[in-house]
Amino acid sequence: MYKLNKYTLLYMMFLPLFIYSCKKDDNNDPTFNLFSVQDDINFGQELKNEIHSNPAQYPVLDKSQYAEAYNHMSRIRDSILNTGKLIYADRFNWEIDIIQNDSVLNAFCAPGGYICVYTGIIKFLDNEAQLAGVLGHEMAHADRRHSTDQLTKAYGLSILLGILVGNNSGQLTQIASDLAAGVATLAFSRDAEYEADEYSVRYLCPTSYDSEGVGGFFEKMSGSPQPPEFLSTHPNPDNRLAEIESLANQLDCGVGELFTESYQNVKNSLP
Ligand SMILES: [Zn+2]
Repeated sequence: MYKLNKYTLLYMMFLPLFIYSCKKDDNNDPTFNLFSVQDDINFGQELKNEIHSNPAQYPVLDKSQYAEAYNHMSRIRDSILNTGKLIYADRFNWEIDIIQNDSVLNAFCAPGGYICVYTGIIKFLDNEAQLAGVLGHEMAHADRRHSTDQLTKAYGLSILLGILVGNNSGQLTQIASDLAAGVATLAFSRDAEYEADEYSVRYLCPTSYDSEGVGGFFEKMSGSPQPPEFLSTHPNPDNRLAEIESLANQLDCGVGELFTESYQNVKNSLP
């Protein structure tokens, strides 16, 4: 009995280190994450299937009928991907769906890079730099693997203990169903929010956009009725605008463009 406990303790000490080192080599992301990159892609695919199977709740704009709107979204997305600053620029497919609902001020990017943008947020924004900033922020959540990092924090110990104890199929089934239900509505931590803001600035910095575009979005949002959809999954950290401005100065991003006038074409391409 004594021996069993001793070895269990040893496994508990070394298994996390072992997994940590494998993951680090695998994806060049030093954060401890129990899930594989393919798990992230699978979660995103499940979410996409769910959205496509429920057109009443998620009326996705038709891609050929609204080709111009999709061209604008792809163009903005590609200007971010082409900076070479995303780890999974090639591995994720970064597909975009536009959801027709003018009253929802929301955009999200599922694990694995599947992006959804509501018409509400596109119409709410003032310029293309803000939209690029929001997309950069969302794409950072996926590229930095924040969802599965959070899930690792929430379930990691249970999963590890399950492997060690070897007999908890009921518990693992419960975790799997929690994951499927919760991955889309999982609130990010404040640290993840800061990091998504930070990477939005880093992505936009080498482009022609104002690198503080995401700050423009949060500034505008603070002066309007609060959009519960966005804030329910993106808690607003303190000093967000100051942090964004200070990073843009630190990186010497210079003065980028807002593209306010041409943004009307983006809005006009929507129904
Ligand atoms: Zn966020």
